[in-house]
Amino acid sequence: MIRLSNIQLPLDHDTSALENSILSMLDISAEQLVRFNVFRRGYDARKKTNIMLIYTLDIETTCDDALLSQFSDHQQVKATPDLDYHPVAQAPATLTERPIVIGFGPCGLLAALVLAQMGYKPIVLERGKEVRERTKDTFGFWRKKILNTESNVQFGEGGAGTFSDGKLYSQVKDPKQYSRKVLNEFVAAGAPDEILYVSKPHIGTFKLVAMVERMRAQIIELGGEIRFSARVDDMHIEDGQITGVTLADGEQLHSKHIAIAIGHSARDTFEMIHNKGVYIEAKPFSVGFRIEHEQSAIDKARFGPNAGNEILGAADYKLVHHCKNGRSVYSFCMCPGGTVVAATSEENRVVTNGMSQYSRNERNANSAVVVGIDPSDYPGGPLAGIEFQRKLESHAFVMGGSNYDAPAQTVGAFLRGETQEHIGTIEPSFKPGIKLTNLADALPDFCIEALREAIPAFNKKVRGFAFEDALLTGVETRTSAPINITRDKHSLESINTKGLYPAGEGAGYAGGIMSAAIDGIKIAESMALSMNMKHPH
Ligand code: FAD
Repeated sequence: MIRLSNIQLPLDHDTSALENSILSMLDISAEQLVRFNVFRRGYDARKKTNIMLIYTLDIETTCDDALLSQFSDHQQVKATPDLDYHPVAQAPATLTERPIVIGFGPCGLLAALVLAQMGYKPIVLERGKEVRERTKDTFGFWRKKILNTESNVQFGEGGAGTFSDGKLYSQVKDPKQYSRKVLNEFVAAGAPDEILYVSKPHIGTFKLVAMVERMRAQIIELGGEIRFSARVDDMHIEDGQITGVTLADGEQLHSKHIAIAIGHSARDTFEMIHNKGVYIEAKPFSVGFRIEHEQSAIDKARFGPNAGNEILGAADYKLVHHCKNGRSVYSFCMCPGGTVVAATSEENRVVTNGMSQYSRNERNANSAVVVGIDPSDYPGGPLAGIEFQRKLESHAFVMGGSNYDAPAQTVGAFLRGETQEHIGTIEPSFKPGIKLTNLADALPDFCIEALREAIPAFNKKVRGFAFEDALLTGVETRTSAPINITRDKHSLESINTKGLYPAGEGAGYAGGIMSAAIDGIKIAESMALSMNMKHPH
């Protein structure tokens, strides 16, 4: 098959335009074109009055080889790469050891699925509950302020991204096309087909819940085992080799191949592995606030007269500003047509994040506006970043009224440094609720200074971004893990603990659903090869 890229057509093109473009680009007749499908569809909205759709197409003709050699110098015409997933190993008929996967977020989910598909019958240990029970606990916290520290936005089946916008794009390099494997598994589990071809796929919360259940069923059918309310509280390490784990209820499990995919919020587990001598180091992350605007204003700013177009959907944005004080501020985890959510997993702390449904049809758009910080801002060893986060989250809890409401302020008042009595036209979506206050007290001065410079700068790129009534809610502290569980580049094992495979966001090797899932596949492959003693180095 042949891949044609960068085919640009107007937003309102008719159905025959794609076929006509192929025929004219390759100078072939309709009879020579056997079939085609859209591999990717994106858009270029730089000219709002002339938005173009940009296609990548996979086509089959009666003369593929001849065309590939005729267009060998043409950047837009290439052979379609192999998109099939090829397992790297197969478990022996009699297994002598079952691998363990700690954590059942996107990373642990894909690691377990791929291990199960290769025949290794993994045992998954997840501290939280199965996804339906977890949904009740999470919504219970948002509605009634009753926090379950083991079952919430961060912990439980599906991991941190279950109550999210379900954005599935990532900027990680992916030469082996693992992202295709992830998308194919998601579609097989019930995700909409369009995630295979739109340039910025998303799923939304409720579809994610059902998908996670189907993927769990597949792992079990293949001989895997998934244990909920199974928190790993200790690790057994002998002469630098992992040999097993102890669960919170005292049960011990043994394996010399253990993936640790615990996400960025398992602070107690980070402490435990540090105390056991597993090598970890502090790493940079970001802190800031969530900002809310009306989605219709963002649509208008991004798409002009084409706002509301069905193909374009609810508009998003991605913004960066480098400040005079040397800090970078950027928008993060933008959720079109969504809500700001309470994302703490610890008592008496307030943390924000965002989510939306597949339809993205809530009134407000939200995103985090965050400032990059690094270990020099929180000196004191590998765990100092966690203490830094905790301090900000505890302070936000107090600023919000010590009842899980979040501190908030309009953008106008924040930029002027005033405290105001009333919100403006933007209704806050955060549940349980907000308390208007002076957010300048919520973050270190250098962050406030950077945000006060960046928000007006963003207004030049997305008109209305610095709108007087836009609402800031704080604090956004869990943008990524504050530590790295450093691993060997080749074997993917911890650099000082053999058989322990640090993976996903919590280990510092992913920053989102897709990159975490891809990392899960990589880890599964390394574990399988090691178990088969075929490690390639
Ligand atoms: P996690 O998903 O965090 O999973 C880790 C799992 O390990 C958890 O289920 C936890 O309970 C379990 N665990 C922790 N400690 C232990 C232990 N000791 N024993 C047993 N189990 C343990 N990313 C996107 O790409 N798109 C989005 O739209 C998006 N929206 C988000 C919205 C919200 C509200 C949040 C919180 C995050 C969002 N993210 C989004 C980020 C994304 O969810 C994470 O990057 C991703 O989930 C990381 O995957 P992971 O598997 O590495 O870790």
